[in-house]
Amino acid sequence: MKIYVDGTLYAKEDAKVSVFDHGFLYGDGVFEGIRAYDGTVFRLREHIDRLYQSAKTIALEIPFTREEMTQAVLDTVAANEKRDAYIRLVVSRGPGDLGIDPANCSRPTVVIICAEIKLYPKALYDSGAPIVTSSVRRIPIQCLDPRIKSLNYLNNIMAKIDARRAGALEAVMLNHQGRVAECTADNLFFIAGGVLKTPDLMNGALPGITRATVLELGREFPMGTEEGNYGLHDLYNADEVFLTGTGAEIMPVISVDGRQIGDGKPGALTKKLMEAFRHRRTRDGIAVPYAAGVAKA
Ligand code: PMP
Repeated sequence: MKIYVDGTLYAKEDAKVSVFDHGFLYGDGVFEGIRAYDGTVFRLREHIDRLYQSAKTIALEIPFTREEMTQAVLDTVAANEKRDAYIRLVVSRGPGDLGIDPANCSRPTVVIICAEIKLYPKALYDSGAPIVTSSVRRIPIQCLDPRIKSLNYLNNIMAKIDARRAGALEAVMLNHQGRVAECTADNLFFIAGGVLKTPDLMNGALPGITRATVLELGREFPMGTEEGNYGLHDLYNADEVFLTGTGAEIMPVISVDGRQIGDGKPGALTKKLMEAFRHRRTRDGIAVPYAAGVAKA
């Protein structure tokens, strides 16, 4: 495995970041999780845009243009000779001193890891997953906007611990007003009366790249789509529920807090969206510039 750190590719054991990096000391930084499918990087432009938007909000100046960053990701995937991969792109505030002031950090650290993708078990996509609501509320938008994909994931990690303890794959996170926001590492959708619904981002959700793709698919089908304010009552009484995320893609949900959704099996529209998403995976990608001789899978 070759890992990109600040412009150089290192073997895994040699890829290192300073213990004075404020990404390590304070979670000061931003990141992206990206997929490559059959030699193309899915919606890379959108991921790079989201990274730069997150960085802008935390006043972190990335030392590359968007084009240079895009190329660095593509070159790292090419150097790893992988056609299918999970790519982690991290930009931290960089090494500084032990105070929190970012003014003491001279230059951001940029890391790109191109790894094997660890998928949820295939059987779960056929059977659907149970989820529960976490007691941990999503950080209010006035405190730390969840639209920022930052290196501070403790809020989500606390909720993930709730999910694990309850034997569930994911946990629903409500915002401080009790409205449904998203899950710990996935966006949340439901279908009611044939309309595809997902919480408005202002309820405290990450603008997921998969979320945006699914909303596009919904509009193309065509089916009604709605981004709104919802409570658990809406979820419990939905006809279908599913999660979306780069790792999960579209994961059907068959129960929420023990309330069965629909007939307790993945819903028909969810299955249609899963099928349509599969066709999108390679259509919406940027081709990886492999050296000659990298075999096509
Ligand atoms: N919400 C959160 C909190 C996330 O961390 C993620 C990404 N894992 C998502 C939603 C899904 O976003 P995407 O579709 O861009 O992976």
